[in-house]
Amino acid sequence: MLFGLTPLGGATAGPAAGPNPGTTAPGTTGVNRTERSRAPRKKWIAPEGTSLRSVIESKERQVGLRCDDVSCLYGPEDGDEENADVKIRTERTCLRKNPGSAEPSCMHTYHPECLLVASRVADIGLDREMDSDGPDEWLEVGCPFCRVHGGQEKREWRNHRELASRV
Ligand SMILES: [Zn+2]
Ligand SMILES: [Zn+2]
Repeated sequence: MLFGLTPLGGATAGPAAGPNPGTTAPGTTGVNRTERSRAPRKKWIAPEGTSLRSVIESKERQVGLRCDDVSCLYGPEDGDEENADVKIRTERTCLRKNPGSAEPSCMHTYHPECLLVASRVADIGLDREMDSDGPDEWLEVGCPFCRVHGGQEKREWRNHRELASRV
């Protein structure tokens, strides 16, 4: 409320330029004012600090080109627009809360290959862990995006690795 902050008797010319809500009787004028102030919200405007790149990347996620991995292996590179044969890789996997549970540990989903590569970067012992024999077939990592811990079976991880080796 800019008007409210103007000191009494201030020399600013501000209030004269716009409508003064204080002297307007409630009625049609008030309705119009509401409509006018609401209209711009319908047009989507990028929040401050949002780069064009992040807007494009989120669109690419919506259409399925890119997964939640910030360095998604399948995300189009700059200059790829001319490339006509963009293949959409639809398979997604997510980290889960517990062994035997299908409940995701967070809302992020990844191409299996991207999850493997991103998790391997964060945990250099991942390969060794997924190859180790032990009673625990569950291998837990932090989500590459939000760091919330979740896991998958070791055989799933090995499967992801197999897929990643072919990319
Ligand atoms: Zn991906
Ligand atoms: Zn997450």
